Amino acid sequence: MPELPEVEGVVRQIRPVSIGKKIEAVAVSDVIRLSKENGKEAIIKRIEADGFIERLTGAQIVQVERRSKYIYFTLRKDNEFLLVNHLGMSGAWFYVDQLQSIPEDKFRRHVHIVLTLSDGNLLAFSDIRRFGEMRVLQQEGDFPPLLLMAPEPFHEGALEHFLALAESPKYKNKAIKEIIMDGQIVSGCGNIYATEALFKMKMHPKRAASRISRKRKIELFESIVAILQESIEAGGSTISDYRDINGESGSMQNRFGMYGKKQCANCGTQTKTLKIGGRASVYCPTCQK
Ligand SMILES: [Zn+2]
Repeated sequence: MPELPEVEGVVRQIRPVSIGKKIEAVAVSDVIRLSKENGKEAIIKRIEADGFIERLTGAQIVQVERRSKYIYFTLRKDNEFLLVNHLGMSGAWFYVDQLQSIPEDKFRRHVHIVLTLSDGNLLAFSDIRRFGEMRVLQQEGDFPPLLLMAPEPFHEGALEHFLALAESPKYKNKAIKEIIMDGQIVSGCGNIYATEALFKMKMHPKRAASRISRKRKIELFESIVAILQESIEAGGSTISDYRDINGESGSMQNRFGMYGKKQCANCGTQTKTLKIGGRASVYCPTCQK
């Protein structure tokens, strides 16, 4: 699942090819139309396919930003509004001259939304598993969960926010891994980077926050930030379906010490897997206490 570095990579690539351009046409797949007719909400949320097309067609792309694991497109048509996108499990954007240019068949076959830009190229959203989300919002607060997201980890105040919540009565007895994967406490850190940061810190994923000193909590947060930054520079992690807008995979997965490993990269011990907060958590029983 794409986490902060992967989404940041996509945003950095979409920005230069889209800002200032107009969305001339919008196409929505039959799969999405059918799902909406059947009362399901595949990808496009809270608006009919035709309404979605009508809202976006003719709009100019003013800004493209990342907030946690979301992509915010600021669009202008009469006034400014937002198209907020979450990549879900397998969402990917491609910037191509035609759909046939999308590099892999599995992505070509699952294109669900196509924006034709005023330069004649396409911004196509492919989503194999269809857990991605698109929302047209007048403002961020129209989808209240967006307002609950923790500050950006690279911004001032993010560490204090993390410490305050991790030490609060509500969370202090919870497993540290569950805490750092909670988007209201730390933004953009999912299973992959939480696993790697805890491994680097030699910290057991189930350790209760109250049993970790403040100094170690600060070091853990700094370690998360460093890993997210390192991954951005490595083009993100490709476990299965993450691709950048040119169809390239990331390379951060080659630097993992623990995620997806059967043996600890430090000591060679066989790794163990625990279920924490509904997610499989890999750790080394020797190194991580
Ligand atoms: Zn080990």
